Amino acid sequence: MGRYIYLDNNGTTEMDAEVISFMHQYESLYGNASSMHSLGRNAAAGIDWARGEVAKLIDGDESGVYFTSGATESNNTVFSIFRDLIDDGSSRNRIVLSSVEHPASIETAKYLRKRGYNVDFAPVDHSGRLDLDKYKALMGDDVCFVSVMVGNNESGTIQPVKEAAEIAHSSGAYFHTDATQAIGKIPVSVREIGADYLSLSGHKFYGPKGIGVLYAAPSVPMRPFIHGGHQENGMRAGTYNNQAIYGLGKAAELALKNIEYEHTMLWQMREALRKGILDRIPDVIVNGSDNPEYCLPGTLNVSFAGAEGESILLYLDLEGIAVSTGSACATGSLEPSYVLLAAGLDTELAHGSIRFSFGRFNTMEDVDYVLEKLPPIIDRIRKMSTRR
Ligand code: PMP
Repeated sequence: MGRYIYLDNNGTTEMDAEVISFMHQYESLYGNASSMHSLGRNAAAGIDWARGEVAKLIDGDESGVYFTSGATESNNTVFSIFRDLIDDGSSRNRIVLSSVEHPASIETAKYLRKRGYNVDFAPVDHSGRLDLDKYKALMGDDVCFVSVMVGNNESGTIQPVKEAAEIAHSSGAYFHTDATQAIGKIPVSVREIGADYLSLSGHKFYGPKGIGVLYAAPSVPMRPFIHGGHQENGMRAGTYNNQAIYGLGKAAELALKNIEYEHTMLWQMREALRKGILDRIPDVIVNGSDNPEYCLPGTLNVSFAGAEGESILLYLDLEGIAVSTGSACATGSLEPSYVLLAAGLDTELAHGSIRFSFGRFNTMEDVDYVLEKLPPIIDRIRKMSTRR
């Protein structure tokens, strides 16, 4: 294959070579980390180390880091903890989440709602940011927990999580944040946010797939969520996946070390692409926020009027450029993105949206290449389209 430019880093990232070689180093460390012999203890030491790296990355306590299979499991778990409390008769029996959460939360909430639980979705404004007044109006002494993500996977919009956490706490509710897309791109501190729970996934920041974390702050409600052995303080049973956990630890270490440089690089590439597209292509809408402070640095979501997102994606793929229409999780359905619709974008423009997401291994040459290939593609699709 010729040139291949990967601009789908919000979907997943390529593992960092340092993570791969670190994992290779421990390939033969097959000990069960729960065993008391030396092989087991060696395996456990690596897991303790990785837990410490994750705690540092999110500025939390090591004791609150629970390894899971990824953010989907972590998000689901928070809902099920509170579902149990509601089942046990808690007077706080309502759940509130933003309407632009990842499907790992939205679908869990819808599932609970179908089964009779009280769930409210908090609306967002035109930039995809939580409408804090409407959110505040949804609070009450019957709310058990609230979930608002740090940064959105599709639009890249950063949410006012600190304010949202304060509002949730002042009505006595716990606060969960899904930081999956923010980790490694912007600093994330559970202390600063005031988050009681946080979710993340290793493969979104150059680590392995199938490994993630649920963070729970000291003394928040917690209960066993995978039943079995006594791993993870008896909360999440199952023999440890040593290598994946070490890889996650290494990815966390690198993310923290590189955060400032990467933030700057990702922002520069995103901005060069945004300006280049606006200069070269008419009838374009940049989705998400105009305020740089509210944008994940590597995410650019653009709607091209009169051009279907799927066609653009396929033509770009033929040129060796990988992008996404909405979120990777929406692939397979041609439904317009609920995230963009929630921000008030009309259906046709939501259909014409493309998400470019940059990562550690992209360069400015990648931006130049996209700016060379994209304008004639949009032109061709618009000419073929019957809708214009
Ligand atoms: N939350 C967000 C914001 C995400 O972007 C994703 C992955 N697209 C997830 C949760 C789920 O992560 P995973 O598929 O690794 O479980």
